[in-house]
Amino acid sequence: MSTKRYLIVGAGFSGAVVAEQLSSKHDCHIFVIDERPHIGGNCYTERDKDTGVMVHQYGPHIFNTDNKEVWDYINRFGEMVPFINRVKIVYKGQVYSMPINLHTINQFFGKTLNPQEAKEFIEQLADKSIEEPQNFEEQAMKFIGKDLYHAFFYGYTKKQWGCEPSELPASILKRLPVRFNYNDNYYNNPLQGIPKDGYTAIFEKMLEHPSVKLKLDTKFDASFDVSGYDHVFYTGPIDAFFEYKYGRLSYRTVFFEKHEAEGDYQGNAVINYADTEIPYTRIHEHKHFTPWEQHDKTIYFKEYSKETEPADIPYYPKRLKDDIEKLTLYQDEVKKLENFTFLGRLATYRYMDMHHVIGEALDIVKKIS
Ligand code: UDP
Repeated sequence: MSTKRYLIVGAGFSGAVVAEQLSSKHDCHIFVIDERPHIGGNCYTERDKDTGVMVHQYGPHIFNTDNKEVWDYINRFGEMVPFINRVKIVYKGQVYSMPINLHTINQFFGKTLNPQEAKEFIEQLADKSIEEPQNFEEQAMKFIGKDLYHAFFYGYTKKQWGCEPSELPASILKRLPVRFNYNDNYYNNPLQGIPKDGYTAIFEKMLEHPSVKLKLDTKFDASFDVSGYDHVFYTGPIDAFFEYKYGRLSYRTVFFEKHEAEGDYQGNAVINYADTEIPYTRIHEHKHFTPWEQHDKTIYFKEYSKETEPADIPYYPKRLKDDIEKLTLYQDEVKKLENFTFLGRLATYRYMDMHHVIGEALDIVKKIS
């Protein structure tokens, strides 16, 4: 059997998993390209020169999964230190706990309810006329009622997504738990951690095989010669691949305002801001993502959201009605291609977390080989 040649477009988790799996299991030549000057996609981390703090350059990435295979997989490339994300949220001058839990409920309504009482209380507030929630707003009204929804979700979501929550899919809200106990862990997934030496070190290890050749600052476009490859794994935006011939899919992007200070700025890794009068959605202070490290100085970022323009990095697929129509047209084009696999958040235009991306890439390679 001849040695296979693979092209992988994108050195984020999708591309890195495919490169690692193929290179470790098969005799092959792999060429990985990425248009950015670094590997790791949006998971890229780098130590800040002034403060020494490990910074998640594209915003906080807390690894969490319920998939043991994915957890064991990432642990092969670097030590994951257990980390529980305990998010706070500021609303009208008070600090609450997020996701909504018994503390949030009792503080917000000025009560001292126990779990059963809180459940009954919230059930009373919830809108029982909604049977099958059709969007984010209905999902919220059905499960927590209008007061909690307006305080903690309406403003934040409008800032984050730039549209009415009633235009967004219910699945976005389903990402967050609502709890009737004092558990303030942001995620439900049992396996949670942050890489001790940052995500970039993990990617370096994944891509270190001698049969993997990496070229950064290299954009993939229609002029790229793919004729010498047996298969191409494409992880870039699906609409960019087809030169936006059916129009651009909409994404939200985020941008950060960087600040430095002495000591501890906010006492927590992430604090959300629910009020619409505050233009940013949240502040992240990155030294709190590595509580095992000591730093005298601190660095924190105010995070803002906006619509993605051609020069911006796409983050969150909006998946509005119009987008889904365009997506279907692009997906029909993908089906016509031979020897191409589209995978990952941008190439499939889905709101995926790191563990979803890794899990799907592992499955895809299993099917191919
Ligand atoms: N959300 C909100 N208030 C919060 C946190 C989240 O309204 O304090 C909404 C918002 O619409 C967000 C969604 O819930 O996009 C999912 O939140 P998650 O934390 O999963 O978003 P991510 O970490 O991916 O930005």
